Amino acid sequence: MMMVFAEGDDGNRMQSHTKYEALVTDALLSAAELERAHHAAHAQLLDIEEVLVMDFQVPLAAIGQALARHFKVPYEPFAPGRMKPGFLLRNLKAQYVEENQWLPLDEDKDGLLVLALDPERVRASRIVNQVFPKSTLAWCVTTRAEFRQTVDQFFGTTARSDGSSLREVLSGMAHDDSDGEAVQPVSQAVENELVKLVNKVIMDASRQGVSDIHIEPLPGNGRTAIRFRKDGALVPYIDIPASYRNALVARVKIMCDLDTSERRKPQDGKIKFKKYGPLDIELRVATIPSAGGVEDIVMRILPAGDAMALDQLGVLPHNLARLRSAVDKPHGLFFVCGPTGSGKTTTLHSLLAYLNTPDTKIWTAEDPVEITQKGLRQVQVNRKAGLDFATVMRAFLRADPDVIMVGEMRDRETVGIGIEASLTGHLVLATLHTNSAPESIVRLLDMGMDPFNFADALLGVLAQRLARRLCGACKEPYRPDGAEMAQLLAEYCADLPHAQGAGSAAAQARSALLDGWRTRHAGSDGHFTLFRARGCAECNKGYRGRVGLHELMIGTDNIKRLLQERGRVATLLAAALDDGMLTLKMDGIEKVLLGITDLRTVRQVCIR
Ligand SMILES: [Zn+2]
Repeated sequence: MMMVFAEGDDGNRMQSHTKYEALVTDALLSAAELERAHHAAHAQLLDIEEVLVMDFQVPLAAIGQALARHFKVPYEPFAPGRMKPGFLLRNLKAQYVEENQWLPLDEDKDGLLVLALDPERVRASRIVNQVFPKSTLAWCVTTRAEFRQTVDQFFGTTARSDGSSLREVLSGMAHDDSDGEAVQPVSQAVENELVKLVNKVIMDASRQGVSDIHIEPLPGNGRTAIRFRKDGALVPYIDIPASYRNALVARVKIMCDLDTSERRKPQDGKIKFKKYGPLDIELRVATIPSAGGVEDIVMRILPAGDAMALDQLGVLPHNLARLRSAVDKPHGLFFVCGPTGSGKTTTLHSLLAYLNTPDTKIWTAEDPVEITQKGLRQVQVNRKAGLDFATVMRAFLRADPDVIMVGEMRDRETVGIGIEASLTGHLVLATLHTNSAPESIVRLLDMGMDPFNFADALLGVLAQRLARRLCGACKEPYRPDGAEMAQLLAEYCADLPHAQGAGSAAAQARSALLDGWRTRHAGSDGHFTLFRARGCAECNKGYRGRVGLHELMIGTDNIKRLLQERGRVATLLAAALDDGMLTLKMDGIEKVLLGITDLRTVRQVCIR
C-alpha cells in the first residue's frame, strides 16, 4: 500500500517499468501503453497493477507471469482453498506482513515457500533468514491484489491495521474542487476521514524515516501539497483537494492545542501522537500564515528515544580517540557546534551515553527533551514559566553534579555559568550555534568571556554537519582519473597553507598527503575506488541516511595560549591544523575516499 506513494521516487519508477517489461515483450501492451499506465497510476495515486487491470484490461495472471519472468521465480496465484499455515505465522503480525510484503506459505521437505511482491528485495534484506533461521528458502511472486487477498485469508480482513490507502481515504471525502474558496462546513463523515488522513500522513512519515512534514496550501482552487524531508531533501508525498485545505489545517491545530480561529499569526505547538494513533512519537508543529490568506504547516518529527553509541556516529577513528580523551577529563568545558539540524543533540547524547555510569551524576537542561536515557536526570526548559537555561544551570550547581549538559548556550550569562561550573570541578557539555570550531572560540571571547578562565576551562570544540550517505544497495564503484584525484587533493589542501602553491616544499607536502591516502584507501594495485549515486527501490536518488562530518579542535596548550592572546580565527585554525585537526571539508573528503559519500555532497554541506 505504501508503494503507491513510493512510485514518486525515480528509482522506483525505473524498477516498476522493468518489472512489467514482459507484458510488452508478450505483446499484451505496447511500451507506450505501459508508460501511460505508469503515469496514470502516479497522477491518480493508484497502484499501477490496478491501472493495468482496470484501464488496460490486462489479466491479473498475465501480470503475475510478467513478475515471475522478471524475478525468475514461479508465480503463485491466489488459492481460495489454501490452508492457513498457523505454525509459520505464529510470530508474524498482519501489519508487519503488509508493510514488508512477504509471507510464508508452506514448509515441506524441500524448504520454506515464501510469497513476496519483490522477492529480490526481501531476499537481499535477509529478514526471512532471521525469522526462520533453520529453513531453506524457496521463493514465489504474486500480484498486489492477490497478496492482499492471501493476507486477508490468513489473518482475516478485520486484522488489517489500516486497510485504507491514502487514495481510499481521500475518495471517502466527497470531492468538490470547484468551490474551494468558500469555507465549507465539513460533515462529520468527512471529518472522520480527515482524522484518518492526518494520522496516515504522520505514520507514513515516521515509518519512512522522514524528519519534517511540509503542508503547503495554495489559495483558491489550488491543491494543498504535502512534502516530506528525507535525508535532508524534500520529496513530494501527496496533493490534497482545495476543499479540504481548511479542515486539514484545523485538524493539525486541534492535535496540538493551537487556536483554530487565529489564522493571521504564526503559532507553534507540539503533538503527542500516542493520544491519536498507535505510535509513541512527538511532533513539533509550526504554522505560518502565507500569501493568499492560507496557512502553511511544518511538522518536525522529534527523534524518538534512544541515544546512539559513540562509535556509531561515523566519527573517523583518528577523531574518535581524540574525542574520547577530551571528555574523559573530570572537569572542563566541551562544545558541539553547528547550525540547526546538524545532529548536535544526537552527538551530545552519544557523549552522555559514553559518560553515563552508575557512579556519575548527570544533569541535563534541554529544550525540548528529545532523547531520553536511563540514569540521566533531564530537565525540560520552559521559558514561559520562567525556567530558562540560566536558572536551571544555577539550580544544577546546587544539586551535586558530576556532568552537566546544556542544550543551548547562546548568551553571556549561560556561558559564564558554564565556565564557572567547569572551573569548580564539573564536566560541562553544551551546544553552540556557530559554524566552525575556531570561530566558536572567537565568538565566545567577543561575548565578553574572560580569556584566562575560558582557556583554563576549554577541553575542545566539535563542529559538525550531516551529509547524505550513498545508498549501500546501489552505489556504483568507479576508478577516478588523475584529474579527479588532483581536484580532491586541491580541495583537501584549501586550508593547509604549507601544501599550497608551486614551491617544492608544497609539492612535497601534497605528495605526502596522497601517499597517506594511498596507504589508507587505495587497493593493492595502488588505484583508488570512488562511488557515485545511482538510485534504487531502497533509496532516494542514490542516497540513504546521513553521516556526520566532524571538525574536532582540542584545547591543547597551543590553543589555550592563543586564546589568552585573543588570537584571530585564521591563527587558531592554523594552530588547530598543526595539532591534528581535520576541517569539515577534509573529514568529508576522507569519507568520500571511504566510499561513504561523494564530493558534491561534501561541497554542499561545507559551504562557508
Ligand atoms: Zn539505492
